[in-house]
Amino acid sequence: MGGLHRGHQQLITTAKGFDLIQPNPVLVSIFVNPLQFGKGEDFDFYPRDLSLDCELAQEAGADAVWAPSVDEIFPGGADSHRKLIAPLHLQANLCGLSRIGHFDGVANVMIRLLSLVKPKVLVLGEKDWQQFVILRQLIKDLSLPIQIKGVATVREADGLPHSSRNRYLTKSERQKVLALPQLLTKAARDVSEGEILDLKKIRASIEEKGLKVEYLEIVDPLLLRPVTKTQQISLLAAAVHCGSTRLIDHIFLMKRHPIVAIDGPAGAGKSTITRTLAERLDLVYLDTGAMYRAVTWLIKQQGIKPENHKQISFILKDLKLELRQSIKEGQTVLINGKDVTELIRSPEITASVSKYAAEVPIREALTKQQKEIGINGGIVAEGRDIGTAVFPDAELKVFLTATPNERAKRRAADMANQGFEVPSIKELEAQINERDQLDSNREISPLRKAKDATELITDGMSIEDVTQALIELFRSRIPEEVWPTPRSIN
Ligand code: C5P
Repeated sequence: MGGLHRGHQQLITTAKGFDLIQPNPVLVSIFVNPLQFGKGEDFDFYPRDLSLDCELAQEAGADAVWAPSVDEIFPGGADSHRKLIAPLHLQANLCGLSRIGHFDGVANVMIRLLSLVKPKVLVLGEKDWQQFVILRQLIKDLSLPIQIKGVATVREADGLPHSSRNRYLTKSERQKVLALPQLLTKAARDVSEGEILDLKKIRASIEEKGLKVEYLEIVDPLLLRPVTKTQQISLLAAAVHCGSTRLIDHIFLMKRHPIVAIDGPAGAGKSTITRTLAERLDLVYLDTGAMYRAVTWLIKQQGIKPENHKQISFILKDLKLELRQSIKEGQTVLINGKDVTELIRSPEITASVSKYAAEVPIREALTKQQKEIGINGGIVAEGRDIGTAVFPDAELKVFLTATPNERAKRRAADMANQGFEVPSIKELEAQINERDQLDSNREISPLRKAKDATELITDGMSIEDVTQALIELFRSRIPEEVWPTPRSIN
């Protein structure tokens, strides 16, 4: 809507850097949309300075500014264009309660702007989080082929989020309003330290500073419904009035960093995909299959049978299992100090690992270690029971699979790469099926698609296709503010 500031400039910079290999022109639309203002709101005096906006847009890297007239966007008058209703369930709380019709107005103008421009990518700020969630849902519901990219809220040095409406504040109001971001930040810190928030107390503290609280709520960040039990990630959102100015702000409350769980049958390409995803999102990569393989190698090497739980438990007591990642050398697996990176990939280990992985003491020991590795989150783990047993509260669960024939072909290519003799595709398919059977039918933590997992069948998809699909899924759950896309990749 114009009144450009550093937050808008960040959207433009992000759009500019979105695809460095095939860069696209960046268009900035500036349109003060009458449909999204209610009676008595600030439509008439909303900041309008097109020449300054153009300067700021250009400075940030925009290729063009488009500032259409009301008639161009709403021929025949804005009122005849109240056609769409924004998803009602997402309007039922927060700003939707007091600004009746506001999000419908936003939805109508956005669809109009998008259908006129037909962009590939739409860059939106996360500052107005409810608007962001509503627009994303609307674009999904209408199946528009537009990728949405969120940008974390940009703040002034003192913590106030940039907003065109900040310029309405007098000097003393500007000081007063800082209490809001400060108290939100404190609340987030308290939650990360394990405290339970008292909303009434926070509300009172905000009002003590002379601000009037319209709402202060903890909601699910995607459903925007008040949360009854504490979640790993929730949203603390507020609208306050400072004098005659209404301002909103929010913060995500997190008990830990996000976790991605990737499960699926043998040979579905989980390792390659998970490693790539970890690199792109700067998450720690955890290959739990390598852990089961390493333990299988150790136990087999000592001539112990899988059913000999007593001896297995004895060995596991002093187990030192390390997975080291390096960009240059990939993954190194060390068990009790010995480098077994290559040994655990042998056809012999591959053929016997599922038997050992079904044994209770082995599963218990490794599950415990995996949970410890992921205690603070910031991790993407792959295996067979990650979403069901290891991290059942992961924010994103994916069940990655492909037809057995496709998986056998991929396995053949892998084996050839590693210098092993490659059996026929038919034989490989039989081996893969046998392993799937064992993994799916064992008593403890069998291979299953978690109820809340997204299944991705990867036949015909390249590694890049699958990685992109997973990044989109990740971003549909995790705001940039919670886990920013690494700068080099953006
Ligand atoms: O993924 P990868 O082929 O390296 O896994 C080897 C085996 O380890 C699987 O077939 C399965 O038997 C076992 N495994 C498991 N649970 C996990 C990961 C792997 O049972 N989370």
